Amino acid sequence: MLRSYQVAEFAKPLVASESPLPEPTGAQVLVKMERCGVCHSDLHIWDGYWDLGGGKKIVAANNGSLLPLTMGHEIVGTVVAKGPEASNVEIGQRRLIFPWIGCGSCAVCQSGAEHLCAGKAQALGVFLNGGFASHVLVPADRYLVDYGSLNTELACTYACSGLTAYSALKKIGKLPDGQSLLIVGAGGVGLNGIAMAKAVTGQAPIVVDLDPAKREAALKLGAKDAIDPRAEGAGKALVKATGGVAGAVDFAGSPQSFEFAYGALRKGGHLVSVGLLGGQTTISLPLLVMKGVSISGSYVGSLVELKELITLAQQQHLPALPIEVRPLDAVNGALEQLKAGGVVGRIVLSN
Ligand SMILES: [Zn+2]
Ligand SMILES: [Zn+2]
Repeated sequence: MLRSYQVAEFAKPLVASESPLPEPTGAQVLVKMERCGVCHSDLHIWDGYWDLGGGKKIVAANNGSLLPLTMGHEIVGTVVAKGPEASNVEIGQRRLIFPWIGCGSCAVCQSGAEHLCAGKAQALGVFLNGGFASHVLVPADRYLVDYGSLNTELACTYACSGLTAYSALKKIGKLPDGQSLLIVGAGGVGLNGIAMAKAVTGQAPIVVDLDPAKREAALKLGAKDAIDPRAEGAGKALVKATGGVAGAVDFAGSPQSFEFAYGALRKGGHLVSVGLLGGQTTISLPLLVMKGVSISGSYVGSLVELKELITLAQQQHLPALPIEVRPLDAVNGALEQLKAGGVVGRIVLSN
């Protein structure tokens, strides 16, 4: 049997459900879930909407996501069955699953950016059933990634929080010495970003978070400094000390976090916006021009980037963010705790 915890109604506790094990066809692979991270984006999927600001929302029910749905997209599992065309994996192999699966045929998918699919996306735990379950049916064997000797709990977080952080930091690129990197938000994605910032950009980041426990976790993972943005004159002091930052990543995604990061940029600086807390902001057009800054959005990452990240993690032994393993049955409590902001690092479910 396939045991799962499903969203039956948006924002209501997940409901335990059982169904017969699916039989993989074609290149499909059936994976027994071993570890699955609980991600902040699960909270948005669970709520069923994203806050666009100005009273506007994206509603999941209008966006192809139909209930009941099994969430969970940071999955490591063991291959237990496969279709006849799944020739790149063997039964018994443990693999990390790339969950950001697209339609495969739209122009965006064809360019290699399946995670940004403009057609009928099939992301696991968002549109197709994901990892808050005993088993996951993966649409094709090409989405299974060998994570070698990496720790299983850490490896699963690389499917979303790690990949998201990696793709955002890659957009900043290498920064020469003397140039500063700012990371706003030290939640699960932010902490993974802090852990890999030096390896990807060449610079240890200055970190901003409201929560002292998260600032402390940031410093332990190699942050150069950790600032409380509510402290009097925090933004001005940062600009004075650094001359303005060359790169900034906003892992929170609220008007306050974005404005703090944008205000900290030096001329020619680059802000990458990642978080999905929601809202909107106003930008002075002449200042955007005269400062010559750039702003990019970055949403999760590609299959190629996930493989790059796994290679980087193996070569450079990236430090692990704090991880707490709990049984799959504890998923509702984990979501509630994450919603309340009471998680430093990652809760990972085990099966
Ligand atoms: Zn597509
Ligand atoms: Zn996620």
